[in-house]
Amino acid sequence: MRRVPFNDLSRALTSQRDALLAKAATVVDSGWLIHGPHHRAFEEEFAAYLGVERALGVASGTDALELAIRAAHSRSPGNVVLCAANAGGYASAAARAAGCLPRYVDVLPDTHCLDPRAVARALDDDVIAVVVTHLYGRAAQVADIMAECRAAGIAVIEDCAQSVGARDAHGATGSTGDLGVFSFYPTKNLGALGDGGAVVGRDGELMATVALLRQYGWEGKYRMAVTGGRNSRLDELQAAFLSFRLPLVDAGNHRRREIIARYGGAAGPRIRVLPAPDESHAGHLAVVVVDDARDLATHLGDRGIGTDVHYPIPDDMQPGHPGDPQGDLPVTHGLVGRILSLPCFVELTDSEIDQVCDALAEY
Ligand SMILES: *Cc1c(COP(=O)(O)O)cnc(C)c1O
Repeated sequence: MRRVPFNDLSRALTSQRDALLAKAATVVDSGWLIHGPHHRAFEEEFAAYLGVERALGVASGTDALELAIRAAHSRSPGNVVLCAANAGGYASAAARAAGCLPRYVDVLPDTHCLDPRAVARALDDDVIAVVVTHLYGRAAQVADIMAECRAAGIAVIEDCAQSVGARDAHGATGSTGDLGVFSFYPTKNLGALGDGGAVVGRDGELMATVALLRQYGWEGKYRMAVTGGRNSRLDELQAAFLSFRLPLVDAGNHRRREIIARYGGAAGPRIRVLPAPDESHAGHLAVVVVDDARDLATHLGDRGIGTDVHYPIPDDMQPGHPGDPQGDLPVTHGLVGRILSLPCFVELTDSEIDQVCDALAEY
């Protein structure tokens, strides 16, 4: 039986080998390793791609979240960050690192993204920011959340780690909130050959603060203008690789949506494939909802198919955070044990997709 891996990064690395090595050679020949011409070029290309004024390269997606939250924290006295509890724990880790506390809000049953009405109910004077995660690659309802938060001066931070390239009627994800944060972790739709991230945004004041915070709080060399600065930089090598891969994102997202549509067409009545019908979904993950995800994982595993769960444990149930507020999260908690992610990456072959479809149809 052929194995269908959940993901296989070596396929893109093999097919892009010559181009990536050529990029690496350019960096070596330039003599610049940090904050040089490749970094500057990528920041400009990425901002233009998203339709935002400015993009700032940082060391990872989690750093991007932390710096965005720190910037919001620097202008507001509160310390609470609203976020979903089903989005991998990145926002709550970043909130804590920024000296804040997460407060969990429930998600919508059809999209698994934040419920704008639940956000509105959870707002109070302690809230400084809302992190809206575009989970699985699907554009969440940022405009509704912005409408609630703008008047109160609460920052809306879009977590676009899974949604690069997704765009709806309001624009690209990352361009519709106050700040957008991205991860270039190798498995993301725009992946580096190591860690990387970015903060983008229209809010010039918040972006100016992030620009200081990513390098010690320096406004000029060795002069710290703000407190809470970090060392979080995207290096020249990663920026050069990302410049090569950025133009490939749209075609890759299209292919991912095609894969999800094929799963949706093949799955039997016991499996609900969350749809990725158009550009408002980046197709990052092919997630299905079933009564018993472990049973489906075994069925697929017996047929050689790799799966994963994004994510198995809600933030408020994590053993490392025993003091977390237990939110009122019926939808989030109701999905535990019922979600499963199927193979979904650009280099998946048609016969591998067929193998997954056959196994889904059989279940
Ligand atoms: C991957 C991911 C992150 C974290 O990015 P890193 O670069 O690994 O720090 C944050 N949020 C979401 C939704 C992610 O999927």
